[in-house]
Formats: sequence, structure tokens, C-alpha cells
Amino acid sequence: MANCSNSIITIFLITLSLFFVGKPSTLLAQTSSISTIQADLQVQLSSAKTDIEKANILQEAAWNIKNSNPKLAFQYVNQSIDFAEQINYKKGMANSYHTLGMLYWYQSDHKLASEYFFKALNLRKEINDHVGLARSYNNIGNIYFKQKNYKDALSYYQTSLDIRLSIKDSIGLIYSYNNIADVFLNENKYEDAVTNYTKALDIAIDKNYNNGEAFINTNLGSFQLKMKAYQPAYLYFERALELYEKSNNKNGIAQNLNFMSEALVNQKDDLPKAIGFAKESLDIATKIRATQIKAAASGNLSKAYALLDDFEAAYNYEQLYRTSQMEVFNEESQRAVIEIQSKYESVVNQSKVIQQKNEILIKEQEIILKNILIGLTFFFIFLLSGFFLYVQWKNQKKTNSILAQNNQELINSNQALERFAYVSSHDLKEPLRTIGSFSTLLKRRYFNLLDEDGKDYINFIVKGVDQMYSLLDDLLEYSKIIHKKDIPVKAVDLNHVLESVQESLSHSIKEKNVTLQVDALPIITTNQTQMHQLFQNLINNAIKFNDKDIPAINIQVQKDDQGFLFSVKDNGIGIKEEYQNKIFGVFQRLSKEEYTGTGVGLAICQKIVEQHKGKIWVESEEGQGSAFYFRFPELDN
Ligand code: ADP
Repeated sequence: MANCSNSIITIFLITLSLFFVGKPSTLLAQTSSISTIQADLQVQLSSAKTDIEKANILQEAAWNIKNSNPKLAFQYVNQSIDFAEQINYKKGMANSYHTLGMLYWYQSDHKLASEYFFKALNLRKEINDHVGLARSYNNIGNIYFKQKNYKDALSYYQTSLDIRLSIKDSIGLIYSYNNIADVFLNENKYEDAVTNYTKALDIAIDKNYNNGEAFINTNLGSFQLKMKAYQPAYLYFERALELYEKSNNKNGIAQNLNFMSEALVNQKDDLPKAIGFAKESLDIATKIRATQIKAAASGNLSKAYALLDDFEAAYNYEQLYRTSQMEVFNEESQRAVIEIQSKYESVVNQSKVIQQKNEILIKEQEIILKNILIGLTFFFIFLLSGFFLYVQWKNQKKTNSILAQNNQELINSNQALERFAYVSSHDLKEPLRTIGSFSTLLKRRYFNLLDEDGKDYINFIVKGVDQMYSLLDDLLEYSKIIHKKDIPVKAVDLNHVLESVQESLSHSIKEKNVTLQVDALPIITTNQTQMHQLFQNLINNAIKFNDKDIPAINIQVQKDDQGFLFSVKDNGIGIKEEYQNKIFGVFQRLSKEEYTGTGVGLAICQKIVEQHKGKIWVESEEGQGSAFYFRFPELDN
């Protein structure tokens, strides 16, 4: 993300630089090439996929224009450093520092140049970049050389040479031998100088490296010129000229033509030829604005004409020499001004970049702050919800203990009630039996002696006692079911159970013309008596609460992943929705008048089903019949 935004900023700065650099003035000639360079660079940068590529493109661009447009080169190299530093791309950083060092070197700022050369050197050591290392040593050597510290210069050149020897960097070797030769030349160790120049020359010839060969030949020629060995000097310059002509290097051509002329003039030999060379050199130098060569050629021409006693021409060329020298001086001062200007602008641009970086940093800090705030908010919400959860947990714990207490109380009271039901049903039976026996006796012996009212009363008593009996029986049955803890179970074939239920109810089945349809029932692990009671109660009700001519009863079973689902359906009177839950309670009856019963049957059914960990319910519509469902989970055999 940061890289991406920085890339955008850099491209923006490059675009911006179009307006800052290359203003028309003395650099008019360069402006067209600057815009081409910038357009090319834009194209290259927009097609670059990574920051590494971008760093390399910018560094190479800076390197290529370091002589022609140092100002722009400064910008490019700084941007390249930005890309390389952000992703810690050491090779890119080293190359850019090196280029920056070169730019300061051209500005004669040796202090900064050496600072950047050393930075590049250290990075190149880290990443074992031998080619780069040799260059760094060589350039640091150049700085010492410029400062006339020949001892250190030689030591750095020597290290560079050693590296280049080990990696067989032929072109590098040419420059190393040449630089070492320059040191010896300045220390007046001529023999050593010649030996090293010759080594450089041999390699250049061997490797067919024309530029190098030409360059060394010029140096060797200059050395011979210095030694006043004009003839060999001429030959070296002549060879250099030949090579520069091959590569059409105008600067080299002009320079060597002039040197050849100088050799001839100094020899006072073939002066017309010397004049010819110098004029040619002057021509080219004027065209390519090589003011220094122009000045040197004018000087030579002046000397040559003076030797030929043509003082007018000598004077004229002397004048040209002076104006050329002035031009050189002007150019140098102009160059110094441009250098100062470019240094200033590079500082301004750097501060702009720093400002951009700061803005990004401030934005990043704002984001971090926001994130911290969001984090804190969440933390507080978390704390608060934790607190509420704790309070709720505390409350729940309290409620739970109250609930547990209430439950226990409920269990206790239920147990007391159940005990009471059992005891009362059991104990009440005894006096009821007495009442029953005596009222039956009374009826049998004295019935005919009573008037009509007396007969009715006696009948009420007997009926009431019967009713009371069955009520107590059912209640006792119910209490027994509640009290029984370990009910014996075994595999029970429900088909057999249904057969025996039909047998028990055969009287009413026949009497009421009941049609009973029963599915094939499963064998389940259960208590046979309870199953008998369950089906009997339900079928009995289905027959009892039915006003149809032919009561139809249907018994079905379905197996699913939760166990068995049984249903007992009838076409009887049905049950209103509001009573469908109530009827499973003890003594709950809906149709007391027309139908006999105690209201305990369904309560017993519910207890039996619950003891099987099952559930019983009814689905019914008044007048449309009822369907009693009960589910037994996991009780299949
Ligand atoms: P009882 O049959 O002794 O009255 P139950 O507990 O068996 O007692 O039934 C309670 C009440 O539920 C009955 O009085 C009756 O009103 C209603 N009931 C039970 N089964 C049916 C049924 N199949 N159809 C209609 N009503 C029923």
C-alpha cells in the first residue's frame, strides 16, 4: 500500500519535474532531448511492474544523462534511491549511491562524492557485488587522485585492479591499469607509467575494444608529448585518431588531430600539415562546442603561423585563442552556476519528497490513531458486555438457586400429594366397601318395603358407591404407576398386546359395531401390563366417545430416527381445541353427564408414556373425531 502510494507520488514528481527543469536559456539545445528522455522514461516507468524495475529504470536514466543534464539526473537518482530504500533493494541502492557520487564528482564536490562512493562500496561488500565493488574502489581512487593523494589513490586503484583480475573484467582492467599509470606519471615514475599504459593497451587491442584502445593511445601520446618524444607521440595520436574515426567520435577526432598538430609544431616539422590538422580540429571543435579543444587548436595555429612568420594570422589565432579561453572560462563559470542551481533545486526537490513522506507519515499516524481508538472502543464494549454478562450470570445463578429450591419444594409437595392419593384411595376403599356391602344388603332385603322415593335414594347410594369404587380403583392404579420405580421390562410384541386388549373390550366392540383396523405393530422393550393399559384406555375412549353407528378406530405406527410414533384415531365426537391439553390431567372430564368415567384414564396414559421417556398429545376437531399420538423414543428392540 505504502509502496503503491509512493510510486504514484514519484511518478507525479517526475511529471512535475517537466516544469522545473530544462527551462529555455543556455540549455535550449538540450530541451528537446530532455522532453524525449522524459517521455521515454514515463513509458518505461508505466510498464514497470515492480519497484525493483522502477529503481533500475530511474538509476539507468540518471546514469545516461549524468553529463548532459546533471540537474535531471539528480532528480532521477533520488527517486531511484526512494524506490530502492523502501523495499531494501541493496543492489539498486548501491548503484544509485554510486551514480549520485558521480554527479557530485562532476560538480567537483569531492566530499559528497566520496561519501556516496563509500555508501555504495559498503553495500556492495554486503551483497558481494564484485563488478560494482571494483568500480567503487576505482572511483574512490579517482577522488584521492584529484586531491593529489597519490598513495591512497594507488591503493584503491590496486584493490579495484585485483578484483577485476579475479573476475576477469577486461574492460574494467583497461581503466584500472590506465589509472595506475596516471598515478605513476604524476609521481614521475615514467617506466611504471608506461608499463601500466601498455598493459591497458594490450588488453584493449586483445579484446578489440576500440574506445579503450583509442583512449589509452591518446594518454600514451600525451605522455610522450610531455617527454618531448614528438615522433612516438604523433604515432599514438595518429592511431587514436584512426580508431575514433571508426566510431565517429567527434570529440576524440578533434582532440587527437590537435595533439598531432601540437607534436608537429613542437617538432617544427611540416608546419603546413600541422596547420591543416589544427584547422580541421578547430572546425570540428567549433561545431561540437568543444571549447577547450577549440582554444587549444587556436593556440596551436597561432604558434604555427608565428613559426611561419605569418604574424597577422598568428595574431588572429592568438585573438581566437583568447576568446576561446574566455569561452572556456565562461562555460566553466556557467557550469558552476548551473551546478549551484541544480544543487539548490535538488535540495528543494528533496525537501518536497521529505514533505510528501511526512504527509504520508502523518496520514499513517492518523490511521494508527483511528485504529487505536476503534480498538479501545471495542475493548470498552468488550469490557462492558463482559460486565453485563457477569451481572446476568450472577442473576441467573440466583434465579437458578431459587428455581432449584422451588423445584425441590414442588417435588416434595407432589410426592406428598401422590402419597396422599395412594393412601386415601387405599384407605377409603375399606369404609366404602362397608357402605357398599350394607347398602347392597339394604337394597336386597328392604327394597320392596320402601316407597318410590326410598327406592330412588337406595339406588343413588348404590350407584354412587359403584362410581366411588371405580374412582378409587383408577386413582389407586394411577398412584401405583407413579410410585413404581423399577418397572420390569422385556421384549413385548405389541401385536399380542392388541389382541388381548381386543379380547378385553370384545363386549363393547361387538355391542357398538366397532371396526378396528390395526397396523402390524413392532416388538419393543417395555412393560406388557402398562402397554395393555395404555392401548386399552385409548381404544376404550375411542369407542366410548363416539356417536357414530359404526365407530371406526385406526391404530398405526411409524418408525423414524426419533423412535416409534403410534396413533389411535377415531371418528367420534372430537374434543374442542381449548380442552385438548386439559384432558390429560387427573379427574379432567368433559362430558360428565352422557358418558361414564372417572377422568383418570388419560392421566394414566400420560404417566405410562412419560415413564418411557415419551410424549402423548391429541389432535382433534369437535365432531370430526380424535387422533391420540404417542412417541416412544429409542425403545425398539
Ligand atoms: P374418562 O374417560 O374416564 O372420562 P379420561 O381421562 O379417559 O377419563 O378422559 C378424559 C376426558 O377426555 C373424557 O371425559 C372425554 O371428555 C375426553 N376424551 C377422552 N378420549 C376421547 C375421545 N377419544 N374422544 C372424545 N373425547 C375424549
